[in-house]
Amino acid sequence: MNQYIDFNSTIYPFPPKPALLSKDEKKHCREKIKRLLKQQDAVMVAHYYTDPEIQSLAEETGGCVADSLEMARFGNKHSASTLLVAGVRFMGETAKILNPEKRVLMPTLEAECSLDLGCPEKEFTQFCDDHPDRTVVVYANTSAAVKARADWVVTSSIAVELIDYLDSQGKKIIWAPDRHLGNYVRKQTGADILCWQGACIVHDEFKTQALIRVKGLHPDAAVLVHPESPQAVIDLADAVGSTSQLIKAAQSLPHQKLIVATDKGIFYKMQQACPEKQLFEAPTAGEGASCRSCAHCPWMAMNGLQAIVQGLERGGEQHEIWVEKELREKALIPLNRMLDFATQLK
Ligand code: SF4
Repeated sequence: MNQYIDFNSTIYPFPPKPALLSKDEKKHCREKIKRLLKQQDAVMVAHYYTDPEIQSLAEETGGCVADSLEMARFGNKHSASTLLVAGVRFMGETAKILNPEKRVLMPTLEAECSLDLGCPEKEFTQFCDDHPDRTVVVYANTSAAVKARADWVVTSSIAVELIDYLDSQGKKIIWAPDRHLGNYVRKQTGADILCWQGACIVHDEFKTQALIRVKGLHPDAAVLVHPESPQAVIDLADAVGSTSQLIKAAQSLPHQKLIVATDKGIFYKMQQACPEKQLFEAPTAGEGASCRSCAHCPWMAMNGLQAIVQGLERGGEQHEIWVEKELREKALIPLNRMLDFATQLK
């Protein structure tokens, strides 16, 4: 526990899983979604952690499947007047902040993220106010209000580079909300980082001893790890990186077998990228496991076909993202800094 929030006793209620659909029901929903997207001049922007059938639908309909940085970029550049964001709420908010003139719909506004929930605005503002000498860097997985309090927003794909840059400018840093990613970035850059203590309920569950056992079964496999995982798991990795970086690593590493420690939704695009390779889920079971997530984010799983139909048909306060103007303008500043920095890196 820190003085701002008791992370140890915070248990997030898990959302209900979407109803299972028959083959015919799925086909019906897919056709309906395609029709509604056209009628509404809408495009799908889906995250790698959504279910494969959602990712394939986004691809088929001219949308994108990407990490949160690329989702933001795609929505920004695409000419559609409506963005259907299949992901979690902060992704919809980010899309709206960057595209206030567009309608941003989500299958459900109840798709949360434990990092966002674990970094409430009031407590985080107090934390920042208590350390006024530090530059505030927040991960994209935060609310618009938390972004508005930050100097920079960052995604895992450019976190090391950004912190390295700020460190070279002599800045001391507040990092929020993910403690594992913060520690990883500190280790990579040597920067002076004060970390908020949030965690992702999916990546926090990967287990070191069980992973060592799986490696024992497949000694010729490479281990790919997302840096929201605990440091002991990262220490076992052959490649560490954001979702996009892990997909690239899967392609470029010579290994034919890959053990992957991130949400299993990524297997859809990873297998497309290297169809000849064998992918294994890194274990979330083992000693001390609660396996509440089993390597699939329960909030990402809420983006079912029926929910997408409802989002497009109904819109309104259950599906449309609104961000108040003053808040939007404040949050836009650190978001634009991130996008400019990412562009310069490219
Ligand atoms: S996988 Fe983790 S970081 Fe991503 S949305 Fe789910 S809880 Fe948040």
